[in-house]
Amino acid sequence: MPGEYTLPDLPYPDDALEPHLDAQTLKLHHDKHHAGYVKGANAATKELAAARDKGDYKLIDHWTQKLAFHASGHLLHSLYWQNMAPAGKGGKPSKALGDAIKAAFGDVDKLQAQLVATAKTVEGSGWGILGWQPFDQALVILQCQNHEKLAIWSVVPLLVVDVWEHAYYLKYQNKRADYLAAWTKLINWKDVSDRFATVRKLTGLK
Ligand code: FE
Repeated sequence: MPGEYTLPDLPYPDDALEPHLDAQTLKLHHDKHHAGYVKGANAATKELAAARDKGDYKLIDHWTQKLAFHASGHLLHSLYWQNMAPAGKGGKPSKALGDAIKAAFGDVDKLQAQLVATAKTVEGSGWGILGWQPFDQALVILQCQNHEKLAIWSVVPLLVVDVWEHAYYLKYQNKRADYLAAWTKLINWKDVSDRFATVRKLTGLK
């Protein structure tokens, strides 16, 4: 039913991304952290429905903020899992995605360098995001704080990297840059290319 969020299964076994992302981190991240965002989004949805039923909006700011945080966390984690593949299995960007990357960033190496630098410098917890900006018909890189701050309206995320400490601390401790270097080996370009094709179609572009 609308507003009911569910935790998707990981698209691969817990140890599929070793040695770059360890099985323990992946399992905890999915089973505990991502599950927490799903639970939080559903709780906020329920509270908002209850507020409507009662006509009591004194906590509306709290639950609206909780919904933005948890639902965004759920969406970004769902993408993050799909955006990764075992090292060497991620393929290459499609011709269409490659052309858009060339137009926006020059080449794939420059895109990756900018995305990694963006993610590395997030203050506290957040994400690096490559997205499609329909109104400008261009790819754009965003820095996201928490799960929902610093967005540009309408941008659809295509490739995301989690830089909350829970994503890397067990293996990489404070070395976020080392985690990001390892993550680049796991990018599933096939998945990103498929998302790019879909979002262009949905936003009415050829
Ligand atoms: Fe996370």
